[in-house]
Amino acid sequence: MEQVDCVVIGAGVVGLAVARALALAGREVLILEADAAIGTGTSSRNSEVIHAGIYYPQGSLKARLCVAGRDALYAFCDSHGVAYRRCGKLVVATDESQLAGLDALQAHARANGVDDLQRLAGDEVKKLEPQLNAVAGLLSPSTGIVDSHGLMLALQGDAEAAGALLALHAPVASIAVTHAGLRVEVVGQTPMTLLARSVINCAGHVAPELAARTAGLPVGSVPSRFFAKGSYFSLAAATPFRHLVYPLPEPGGLGVHLTLDLGGQARFGPDVEWVDKLDYTMDESRADRFYAAIRRYWPALPDDALRPAYTGIRPKISGPGEAAADFRIDGPAEHGIAGLVNLFGIESPGLTAALAIADEVRQRLAKSA
Ligand SMILES: Cc1cc2nc3c(=O)[nH]c(=O)nc-3n(C[C@H](O)[C@H](O)[C@H](O)COP(=O)(O)OP(=O)(O)OC[C@H]3O[C@@H](n4cnc5c(N)ncnc54)[C@H](O)[C@@H]3O)c2cc1C
Repeated sequence: MEQVDCVVIGAGVVGLAVARALALAGREVLILEADAAIGTGTSSRNSEVIHAGIYYPQGSLKARLCVAGRDALYAFCDSHGVAYRRCGKLVVATDESQLAGLDALQAHARANGVDDLQRLAGDEVKKLEPQLNAVAGLLSPSTGIVDSHGLMLALQGDAEAAGALLALHAPVASIAVTHAGLRVEVVGQTPMTLLARSVINCAGHVAPELAARTAGLPVGSVPSRFFAKGSYFSLAAATPFRHLVYPLPEPGGLGVHLTLDLGGQARFGPDVEWVDKLDYTMDESRADRFYAAIRRYWPALPDDALRPAYTGIRPKISGPGEAAADFRIDGPAEHGIAGLVNLFGIESPGLTAALAIADEVRQRLAKSA
């Protein structure tokens, strides 16, 4: 049996950030990725937005790690040449009945430490984005967009430069808590059994399943998993917008919003559709609902302007109708097993927060060492 110091399971943005943080802290790190490449999961099926940290419940991990992660991410992009644009975002109220919601959102953001939101009157919104229908808006100057693949490559580069090793085609089948350490069974192209001092389960959608296959993990430590699919449609023509544009949030997601990619292409989404399996097939008939939702804030959206783009699935640990669960970073303090950290429910803003999540994992492991 091979002995390793740390095993990181999953090479999405979070696993790569965790591997980097641990390698830079001097730990020996092996990253095990089931797929043939890094970042093929949720990390390549999202909006690539650097969130400011506006929405999340006060005091939650999502709120704290989004704000810390956002600042760390901008600094990382600057120091590592990762492409991004601090384009800012507008949250718009499309009629008077939404004004109280806008006020509440601003107060909420301030409580989360996001104190740069600017309240705009309808004509001020129009000055920034003449095509928008808005009676008022909030401008978030610290929201941006990032090249998520460039980010993951830079994280991988840093981790490898600090000594981490990445194994592709290396799915972990199970984990067992033993007196000697954590035994990790790897199947796939090169089956092997590893004995690790630390194991960090960053397997995204599969993280709860893998935790359920961890012999010795206390019953009750594994959350239920749910899938909330989000579909995106891209705009066929050139976009008239320079900012990201969001309606007020809706249950399960942030509402059908407009984001831009670094090439200037506009896309709309994601909407929210609860599904029972990981199936990324796009249902093109959802376009009808998109036209209706978008025209509330962009009445001039032309007919036949939307093209099916892609879908992503949120790795939820709370179901439809329940309050959105916080990120779960379950370390030794939570489940009592030295060296094991399970990451559950790392949905949005997980891309923004990845560097801060990684630092949190590093600290929790250091505390229990
Ligand atoms: C529709 C949508 C929009 C989003 N938009 C944003 C946004 O704009 N901004 C933002 O900050 N966040 C956003 N997010 C959230 C963000 O994308 C995720 O939080 C983040 O990508 C999660 O990364 P991860 O590494 O945890 O998971 P993943 O990227 O899913 O990585 C998990 C990895 O584990 C691997 N794996 C699985 N099982 C095993 C196994 N048994 N053994 C080995 N490897 C395994 C998988 O192959 C995969 O590579 C969005 C999410 C969705 C779904």
